[in-house]
Amino acid sequence: MSLTAISANFTSTKLTLPVVVFGTMLGLAGCSNSSTTEENVEAETSAAATEQQAANDGATNADGQTITIYSSRNEQLIKPLLDRYTEETGVKIELVTDKTGPLMARLQAEGQNTPADMLLTVDAGNLWQAAQQGLLQPVASSVLEANVPAKYRDPKGQWTGLSLRARTIFYDPSKVSADDLSTYADLADPKWKGKLCLRTSKKVYNQSLVASMMEHLGEEKTEEVIRGWVDNLATDVFSDDTSMLEAIAAGQCEVGIANSYYYGRLLDEKPNFPVKIFWANQGSTGTHVNISGAGVVAGSDNPDGTLKLMEWLSSDEAQGLYASSDKEFPVKEGVDESEMLRAWGQFKKDDINVQKFGELQTQAIQMMDKAGYK
Ligand code: FE
Repeated sequence: MSLTAISANFTSTKLTLPVVVFGTMLGLAGCSNSSTTEENVEAETSAAATEQQAANDGATNADGQTITIYSSRNEQLIKPLLDRYTEETGVKIELVTDKTGPLMARLQAEGQNTPADMLLTVDAGNLWQAAQQGLLQPVASSVLEANVPAKYRDPKGQWTGLSLRARTIFYDPSKVSADDLSTYADLADPKWKGKLCLRTSKKVYNQSLVASMMEHLGEEKTEEVIRGWVDNLATDVFSDDTSMLEAIAAGQCEVGIANSYYYGRLLDEKPNFPVKIFWANQGSTGTHVNISGAGVVAGSDNPDGTLKLMEWLSSDEAQGLYASSDKEFPVKEGVDESEMLRAWGQFKKDDINVQKFGELQTQAIQMMDKAGYK
């Protein structure tokens, strides 16, 4: 296997002093995602606890064998997978859980002294931001190249997708027929006036969706669509996808856009949840898909070991678990999906390279602002 990390190994310059956390003191200047981190459920550790953990990690990581992960993923979902890796390899893993914005601010503040080896987070828009800020290092891996389609990886090798999430249309089947639905853009049609629910434009998921529309439809048409969405809103925008889906169930609106795993979680709790999923844009560009993923931290003192873990997370063994535990889709082709996901049916996915979501993020934010999408 040729699993060499391209950039320098920082072992010789790495300080092993306990880490002082500046993240909470820093603003997030330059990070447009400060208000767009993963759901609260995915950052259960308190700031104080993570600071203490970081201090501990500074000490335990000195052996260069431990892998420290800064993660915005739900610890309950990710921990069993990491425990399995430790069982199989003997490699110890420290998990520091917080929201994406604070984790990136910490990496920024800690620089080369960071105890972190891997950043594990959601949305290509976030990973792209981390790369832009110089927080990640490029790696070359024939394993990742084989397991993860190129459209779900950074062309420069600074991050890779590890699971797929679809952002699509949901509807109230007592009022809407699937035949009435087609594309994201169609939700701007006046026939949906007073019937549409949306999550806030401040969330990176919507910024990435709008970036993909800008790529496919052009700026002018996309702005027209956003204005149409705003005109059609049944109510104020929601702070999260789950409340939006519950509003459809409660009859507050008839259609909306959400990530499919939130729907999956609701179905787990309430198998008769009265909302249906519709795969958007099947006759055209395909449904918008995004990634959760990871990158090797620029200041890592163990880039080779970190890359091996990333490669393992892309393997058949890990993919089945990693994706299905959170109702996401495997990023690796040919890996079995969970029964629930199979029940939602096969769908055509957008072919766009997810790094575009990062490239067009600023323009997408500006456009939504201009169009009055709060
Ligand atoms: Fe989410």
